[in-house]
Amino acid sequence: TAYLDHNATSPLRPQARDAMVAALAECGNPSSPHAAGRAVRARVEAARRRIAAAFDMPSDAIVFTSGGTEANNLALRGTGAVTVLVSGIEHDSVLEAAPRAERIPVDGNGVVDLAWLEARLATGGVGLVSVMLANNETGVIQPVAEITRLAHREGALVHADATQAAGRIPVSFTDLDVELMTISAHKLGGPPGIGALLMQEGFPLRPLLRGGRQENGLRAGTENAPAIAGFAAAVDAAAAPDAGVGVLRDRLEGLLLAAVPEATIFGRAAERLPNTIAVAMPGVPAETQVMALDLAGVAVSAGAACSSGKVRTSPVLAAMGVDAALARQAIRISLGWNSTADDVARCADAWGALWARAAGRARAAA
Ligand code: PMP
Repeated sequence: TAYLDHNATSPLRPQARDAMVAALAECGNPSSPHAAGRAVRARVEAARRRIAAAFDMPSDAIVFTSGGTEANNLALRGTGAVTVLVSGIEHDSVLEAAPRAERIPVDGNGVVDLAWLEARLATGGVGLVSVMLANNETGVIQPVAEITRLAHREGALVHADATQAAGRIPVSFTDLDVELMTISAHKLGGPPGIGALLMQEGFPLRPLLRGGRQENGLRAGTENAPAIAGFAAAVDAAAAPDAGVGVLRDRLEGLLLAAVPEATIFGRAAERLPNTIAVAMPGVPAETQVMALDLAGVAVSAGAACSSGKVRTSPVLAAMGVDAALARQAIRISLGWNSTADDVARCADAWGALWARAAGRARAAA
């Protein structure tokens, strides 16, 4: 099958699998002082340093968590900030962790409105701003470094959810200048169930989970050493520049538009991740497209995976001002490290065939 749903989860990279298999064979609690424990501790700390270096951190102030969701919860609930601003297109793990947060609007391209943000910050009292580096549905990249500049001027902290950006574009914690940043292993070819919150060294954060003093007292519980090993190996593998994904994505967009000239690609005028396509086929429900592609051996999604199952209009497209009917005809196609030209051709062929059938039915009904 052509797996084109990397924004839901990316297949495990072989390097990550090898590192995990090796780590699974090793017994030792990283907090134990004996040799077995020290050996595992050394590997966990080496992984932490490799991840810190890959994201251009000046320190290795990283808290390993159970994934992006926990890292986002830790960031949003751990600073103690009372007045919080989040963009209207954040992942549920940000929105639900900060239910009283004010929403920063986005423009028609899906980019946060910096003028609105600047004006709101100037009225004072904002403790924390949380904006994702790249959106999971459209791939649109947000001007986080600029947001940080505006926020810091008014004394506000900044958190960036880089879950979808990490491993897909170069991400520098230093250049973004944020206090807190979320990443997740399974979006970049590591295992699911492991993520991290990157932070400024010495940042005063309150833990969510209490118990042992692991992770500098910020996350109780024995570290998941095998998952951490797989995470670091995947981060290393993802760091090797790969222009191929962007080339395949652009080719696929060309083929989709050739097959369905009436199609709309969302966020195309903005800076986007090189792997993501959010595209609507007019008149055909997203679920129908997902099923037709699935029958043809192509895996894509109708919006975000976490919210599929229920039919709802994408809040991301709604925030961009997309018409509700068109939004329900939008699917997300996301490529990744193992995508091929064959996958692209198969996807475009199946989508074009569906369009031809839909157009045939429309003619027959007329
Ligand atoms: N943030 C974004 C932008 C995401 O796309 C996701 C995954 N759907 C998450 C956070 C949550 O990450 P995890 O699945 O590791 O909890």
